[in-house]
Amino acid sequence: MGLKEELRKSFPILGRKVNNRPLVYLDNAATTQKPAEVIDRISRYYREENSNIHRGAHFLSNMATEAYEKARNSIQSFINAGSPAEIIFTRGTTESINLVAHSFAEKYLKKGDEVVISEMEHHSNIVPWQIVCERHKARLRIIPLTASGELDLDEFGNMLGKKTKIIAVTHVSNALGTVNPVREITGIAHKLDIPVLIDGAQATPHMKVDVREIDCDFYCFSGHKMYGPMGTGVLYGKEEWLREMPPYQSGGEMIKEVSFEKTTFNELPFKFEAGTPNVADVLGLEAAATFITELGYKEIASHEDALLEYAKEKLAGIDKLRLIASPREQSSVISFIFEDIHPYDTGILLDKMGIAVRTGHHCAQPLMDHLGVPGTVRASFAIYNTMEEADILVNALIKIREMLA
Ligand code: PLP
Repeated sequence: MGLKEELRKSFPILGRKVNNRPLVYLDNAATTQKPAEVIDRISRYYREENSNIHRGAHFLSNMATEAYEKARNSIQSFINAGSPAEIIFTRGTTESINLVAHSFAEKYLKKGDEVVISEMEHHSNIVPWQIVCERHKARLRIIPLTASGELDLDEFGNMLGKKTKIIAVTHVSNALGTVNPVREITGIAHKLDIPVLIDGAQATPHMKVDVREIDCDFYCFSGHKMYGPMGTGVLYGKEEWLREMPPYQSGGEMIKEVSFEKTTFNELPFKFEAGTPNVADVLGLEAAATFITELGYKEIASHEDALLEYAKEKLAGIDKLRLIASPREQSSVISFIFEDIHPYDTGILLDKMGIAVRTGHHCAQPLMDHLGVPGTVRASFAIYNTMEEADILVNALIKIREMLA
């Protein structure tokens, strides 16, 4: 199978017990656990390198600045961006999307314009667009889904036109696991010169992302979902857009010169990084990217795909359990419901058995409305999960079914 015991050992938390049972952690789409490499990198920064960056003349400040900018270069090559100026560090996907929505809208969104998102978006890729559309009197348009939980690309093509100013879609659905054809989407959009933002929060942990191959204009992701620290994220943006867009937040670092009459702004990427950055965690994010690269996406995908197929098949055999969505391409997420048991009750009982899953609307309430369910139970996998853990989940669900039937 290729999954080595040492790999699990490099995640210290996986050795702990929950409710007197060995932890079975299947809530990876919410956040992944962290390997020792990431934890140690953060600790080393505070033990040996801590200093504020970019403006110090002293040894530690230079050391921290170098480390921070090296991390930017590592992330550039991690997603194959064209230049470090195209990598903006943020607090996460949510902040990255907010940055683009507010800055882009201020410059380009006018009354009567349209922004296109999809019915499977996370609230993070709905609400910022809703707010800027309201503010600029623009219209939010929604790409519908097919019965199997995929984007309806025919409808998508039909809704684009002169009024469409930007398209924002997820790479991988956090609630269904659907992998969207992002290259095809940018191809369709660019024929009409419409820029595309991709929400990659659920993609970078599982698949190689090459922003130049996808040819997206913006790509957003979170460190904590890819074995990195919380409070870190990335906005990739093509330089031609970022150069033209106004700053999102203002203050120190993002300026060239300030007087009471006028402020001029710093060059990219600093124009979009106001204030003291989260240096330690950015270094942790770099360590996470290195961890993934050394493991290799081929190894990650082959293990996670096998796990997904195995778990899906077993779950489908459980009485009155319904799998939600059956997209052709799916990544590491299974959503399901018992026809007669509330998802929350299922989640609580699984927790009693040491199994962590997520229940509820998964920050995708419009998607739940579309599916006609109050929520689902979501099991999501990472590289350290095992077939044995899938069996533990399945057996626990069979037990719950027997208890509550
Ligand atoms: N987009 C998707 C698809 C997600 O799954 C998530 C988090 O669950 C987000 C955006 C928001 O990410 P964060 O909370 O790290 O900003």
